[in-house]
Amino acid sequence: MGKTLIKNALVIDGTGEEPKQNQVVVVEGEKIVYVREGSGYQVTGDEQVVDAEGGTVLPGMIDTHVHMMMEYSPLSQRLTTPFSYMYYQAEKYLENTLQAGVTSVRDALGTDLGVKKAVEDGLISGPRLQLSINALTITGGHGDGTQLSGDVMDILPSGHRGMPDGRCDGVSEVRKKTREMLRAGAEVIKVHATGGVLSPTDHPEFTQFSYDELSAIVEEGKFRKGVKVMAHAQGAEGIKNAVRAGIHSIEHGIFIDDEAVELMLENGTYLVPTLLAPVSVLETADEKGMPQSAVDKSKEVIEQHRVSFKKAYDAGVKIAMGTDAGVMKHGTNLRELALMRDAGMEAMDTIVASTKTAAECMGWEDQVGTLEEGKLADLIIVKGNPLDDLESLADNDNIQYVMKDGQVEKDII
Ligand SMILES: [Zn+2]
Repeated sequence: MGKTLIKNALVIDGTGEEPKQNQVVVVEGEKIVYVREGSGYQVTGDEQVVDAEGGTVLPGMIDTHVHMMMEYSPLSQRLTTPFSYMYYQAEKYLENTLQAGVTSVRDALGTDLGVKKAVEDGLISGPRLQLSINALTITGGHGDGTQLSGDVMDILPSGHRGMPDGRCDGVSEVRKKTREMLRAGAEVIKVHATGGVLSPTDHPEFTQFSYDELSAIVEEGKFRKGVKVMAHAQGAEGIKNAVRAGIHSIEHGIFIDDEAVELMLENGTYLVPTLLAPVSVLETADEKGMPQSAVDKSKEVIEQHRVSFKKAYDAGVKIAMGTDAGVMKHGTNLRELALMRDAGMEAMDTIVASTKTAAECMGWEDQVGTLEEGKLADLIIVKGNPLDDLESLADNDNIQYVMKDGQVEKDII
């Protein structure tokens, strides 16, 4: 088995410990086998040596909220795009994500099992994927693409093989729908517990699904070796319903109040903030032909989102990095770290949120998320020290080396 030795790098291992000089990282096969003082490592001569030239080696970054099968595009374009074209687009999106230094993602709806298999089998290159298949949504809810005209225009097509339609109402229907998603390959269940920014006929503060419906979904997950549930939840009441029902992670969490924070701490609920989502809606509204309602709602929530994030962070709620990539371009994911810092998070904590905590949120902490001996060799080398300049991570030219599963995916050092 080939060995790789990474030297001349600052090591930030993802645990939150101080960065370390003078360490080397050694990879053998798909695993990390050594992360310690370089002087303690016995070179055998078989190693392929990677000179990081004073850059920083970090765990591969993890984005716990992406949509790999889409990049938001104008309605006219969606109407004139043949169905299967989206799979070829996704191939690019997956590659761009991996090249940006993101080696694992949790797909928050829209990607089917065949895409994951294609990555795993090496047909296409991309990050390791955890799939939700499609999100459960109430009739008229955040995931219901029925427009005011009566036409159905989902942001992503659904109802085809491998991608069950997500609409369901009432306890028995949500049970059945959860089972359909699991049958289609869901590893995590996604549910829309409130309205949102991009949906035409609702608002982020509208509560969607009752406590009983949410509890039934959580219970169905528990029956399958503890499959977790992630909830798009923006309004305070919907957030609290979700947390009380035992949902694992709150996505967006725009209107988190004090009571919600208390409940999240009690239940160990994760927050996946996606601060980049409303920022990019406003940046690209004209270019992408975003509906005026989405622009207005983004403006309305953007400051509140930052306030809620800070409140949750200060209280000690577990925060996992997520972006909603797909709303913005894939491969721009790491902009989220500087946004989290600007909203009040310590620079090192933004890295922990994007590595260790993100892996824990996905239940993959035994495999990825930190540079530790025995873990899978998912790692990146970036120029300089990102703690001094988190913005630098957003420039893909600074992501100089990407390794996933011990395989070199990028090397521009
Ligand atoms: Zn999303």
